[in-house]
Amino acid sequence: MKANYGYHDGSGDFFITIDSNLCTGCVECISSCPADVLEMITDDYDDVVAAVKDEHRKKIKYSCAECKPVDEQPPLPCVAACEPGAITHSW
Ligand code: SF4
Ligand code: SF4
Repeated sequence: MKANYGYHDGSGDFFITIDSNLCTGCVECISSCPADVLEMITDDYDDVVAAVKDEHRKKIKYSCAECKPVDEQPPLPCVAACEPGAITHSW
């Protein structure tokens, strides 16, 4: 299941998407995140998966600002750290 964290406003979409079917719970994304945006949660299926912390969901554009890539390079640290490819983003 894909969980979308973020929001849409007049200037665009700002979402991080985590696919719980691909997440192995390795916590590599959490160690890679310079802004302490991510945490591990137990989802509705009792799987331990990565998620965006509540306090960052409505301000992800700002929380993740220091990682914002130019022309998709370099990839976001959390995306690069996720070997199974469970994390994607749109903004
Ligand atoms: S790096 Fe990927 S697989 Fe590992 S906990 Fe984070 S989202 Fe899940
Ligand atoms: S984009 Fe950067 S700040 Fe945002 S969750 Fe990923 S690593 Fe953390």
